Amino acid sequence: MKILVPVKRVVDYNVKVRVKSDGSGVELTNVKMAMNPFDEISVEEALRLREAGIASEVIIVSIGPLKAQETIRTALAMGADRGILVQHDELVEPLAVAKILKQIIDEEKPELVIAGKQAIDDDNNQTGQMLAALLGWPQGTFASVLAIADGEMDVTREVDGGLQTIKLKLPAVVTTDLRLNEPRYASLPNIMKAKKKPIEMKTPEDYGVDMTPRLTVLKTIEPTGRNAGVKVADVAELVAKLRDEAGVL
Ligand code: AMP
Repeated sequence: MKILVPVKRVVDYNVKVRVKSDGSGVELTNVKMAMNPFDEISVEEALRLREAGIASEVIIVSIGPLKAQETIRTALAMGADRGILVQHDELVEPLAVAKILKQIIDEEKPELVIAGKQAIDDDNNQTGQMLAALLGWPQGTFASVLAIADGEMDVTREVDGGLQTIKLKLPAVVTTDLRLNEPRYASLPNIMKAKKKPIEMKTPEDYGVDMTPRLTVLKTIEPTGRNAGVKVADVAELVAKLRDEAGVL
């Protein structure tokens, strides 16, 4: 079976994000970019399924600027087989991404899509769910364990208050949570090999998808700083502060 892994190019998680002076968004000029961390986990999981003989091919898809080729190349250097870049230079919203992925899935016919639970730039947590809805496929979101056998898959999900295991029939969409695995680093020989792996170049027009944003960003602001805390001497003082100053008792 084929596995399709959508990967997004985002601001590197180590970078301290700065808001543009006009408040229209975050500064992306000369900022280090990298693969969305949850997508690294998805790539790793797909590779492990291929290494276990469950999957035959791992296809990487990114929708974004030409430079997203580098992100695809990183996934190819980890071991994925080939990539597809749908080039779009403006911001992309989850619904447009899901519509494009749906078209690619109709063509490629993978039996499993492994996406990240969220992209750390916009924190939308929507694409996997929208894609499952468009495809009419079952979905296992926030996965921390995957077990596939006989056309079915058990997905252990990280939910509030614990873990929930569900059984899905393939084809299905999974979104990955942090504890699913620890992604590998690409070795130097694999980085060299990845240069020769194919990346197909496409545009949203090839899939007939209207990329016009449906959302209007009104304002982007820095989070306010937190006030310093105080140490209390004992429980009685804590209770008094909660009652008299915080008004929560
Ligand atoms: P989001 O719904 O934006 O939080 O993103 C959830 C997941 O959808 C990401 O972890 C990716 O797997 C996928 N995704 C979102 N945007 C893109 C994109 N532009 N290109 C490829 N995959 C994407």
